[in-house]
Amino acid sequence: MKNISCDVLILGGGSAGLWAAYSCAQKNPEAKIVIVDKGPRDWGGLMTMAGGDFEAVLAPDTVDQWIQDFVYYFDGLCDQKLMEEILTRSRDRLEDYERFGCEFFRTEDGSRKFVRQRGLDHVKLYPARLKGRGGELMVKNLVKQLAKMKVQRLGRILLGAFLREGERVCGALGFDSISGEKYRFDAKVVIAATGMGGWKTSYGKNTPTGETMLMAYEAGAHLQNMEFGRVWNMPRLFGWEGQTVLMPLGARFVNRNGESFMDRYSPVLGPNTDPHYTTIAMAMEVREGRGPITFDLSNIKSENLILLRPQNGWQKLNYDKLSALGLDLFHDSTEWVPQLTVAYGGIRADARGNTAVPGLLAAGTARATEPGVYAGGFALMTTSVLGYMAGENAAELVADMSAPKPDTDVEAEFARMFAPLGKNGLHFKEVLRHIQSVVFPYDVSIIKTEESLERARRELVGIIENEVPAMAAEDPHYLLKVTETRAIAFVSLMYVLASLERRETRAGHFREDYPTRNENDLAWLCLKKGQGMDPDFYRVRVPLEEYRFPVTRYYQDNFTFGKK
Ligand SMILES: Cc1cc2nc3c(=O)[nH]c(=O)nc-3n(C[C@H](O)[C@H](O)[C@H](O)COP(=O)(O)OP(=O)(O)OC[C@H]3O[C@@H](n4cnc5c(N)ncnc54)[C@H](O)[C@@H]3O)c2cc1C
Repeated sequence: MKNISCDVLILGGGSAGLWAAYSCAQKNPEAKIVIVDKGPRDWGGLMTMAGGDFEAVLAPDTVDQWIQDFVYYFDGLCDQKLMEEILTRSRDRLEDYERFGCEFFRTEDGSRKFVRQRGLDHVKLYPARLKGRGGELMVKNLVKQLAKMKVQRLGRILLGAFLREGERVCGALGFDSISGEKYRFDAKVVIAATGMGGWKTSYGKNTPTGETMLMAYEAGAHLQNMEFGRVWNMPRLFGWEGQTVLMPLGARFVNRNGESFMDRYSPVLGPNTDPHYTTIAMAMEVREGRGPITFDLSNIKSENLILLRPQNGWQKLNYDKLSALGLDLFHDSTEWVPQLTVAYGGIRADARGNTAVPGLLAAGTARATEPGVYAGGFALMTTSVLGYMAGENAAELVADMSAPKPDTDVEAEFARMFAPLGKNGLHFKEVLRHIQSVVFPYDVSIIKTEESLERARRELVGIIENEVPAMAAEDPHYLLKVTETRAIAFVSLMYVLASLERRETRAGHFREDYPTRNENDLAWLCLKKGQGMDPDFYRVRVPLEEYRFPVTRYYQDNFTFGKK
């Protein structure tokens, strides 16, 4: 077993983890910081595949204007103090990226190109200059900074358990997913920056599977926003990203009759809206027999074509392959479908990443931030700022702290982690596909009802009781997959239970049996460990009396469904 001791252990080296390391090292250059990732050492998490489009509040916009946009967009479920902290620091992170060598798109007169988002008055993204490589360059430039700062980075190690001293989290245990070697990390403070939970729908969403969410829940952390899942529009036959930029520029989805159906569901916003509303409409169109849905780019102006064609990266590979097969993505008709990809819920934390568990901070998409709607560029902004703030917090926390003395039964934890290895049993894929078949149907993931969610709940309980313990792994690589699948089953159940618990329609949560807002329930839905598989739910009322902006309008009122 390898033993590594440090001051700050960062779980996950994506946008949030890298920024946490950067700010922690800046604030406390003496601190020993270690980043551990189950993927390749310097790959940078999902950011490596990201377009690099970034939201930031730049003049003449003001933070107050953007907060009011988010209060409206989130249907009131906006932590205004948290958003103020994030938005206030968004410009610094964009300028840091520029200092590190990343470039954002500029128009001929030198001003920044921006693309307004979701029909909001102020929120906009700033596209990366190199279409298709923006995120990859962000990773490379950030990793270069960390290399100068003596931050230790390790890859291919899956972390599957926490080290504890009483209630306190003070390290983690894991294994190398290639060699199987065991790792023990002792730390004064642990930052969970491990991304979201999710359902492994494509290579772009392969790693967000929620192991840390399960570990944090078991350790006493609270989770929030579990009822929200990201349902994205995707081509049926290949991977693609980019409607976030394309919709505001004139792209639209059409039904089998060639009708731009969003104009009917939202005469105000039309096709330029949040994908979670578009996918509700897609599901309704297909249910009414007006599928399939195709993507129509014929309205895009020629001067904006530069923002479409990938110049490099994974999208260029796909684009070239499709072209070789005779398909021109920007002219031919392609079928698109809604896809449940990742869970928005995460660890409940304050702006500096503090959770209910001493020693454990949470940053980036591992924590709960937005209620199931998503404006392009939001993730790279929030993960960089929240990572930065958690790193600063950790730097302060470890300054005068003595090394904890863990009391975890390490051998027992490793025995549990390695139990599926070498035995006969179910392949993880069988179980994963079963879970997917339960949560993917449109009446569980898009247009939810009590009946369909109850059906999903029963199936998931059966999977967790019977199939998850029966999974087996032939080598450490498959042990990683089994561990991920166990977490996916947990996240799925929490998603379904929380969806049952929120008996109203609001933001990214649409209940066909409760299609309107409950005006008395403007509250975040949170949960903590309860009896057996049932968590204890509780609600935290949105404290409007403490906030500067009242809720005067609701984004959901732009749609014919879910309207009060
Ligand atoms: C194709 C694509 C395009 C995108 N484009 C944009 C865009 O243009 N603009 C934008 O704002 N957002 C974009 N996003 C979203 C954005 O990139 C991500 O939401 C953001 O980078 C997430 O950062 P994170 O650090 O919170 O999580 P992640 O990037 O998920 O990082 C978490 C890290 O933790 C590791 N990890 C997880 N569990 C464990 C474990 N148990 N043990 C060890 N390591 C673990 C993972 O391997 C991963 O590296 C895009 C996403 C994709 C997939």
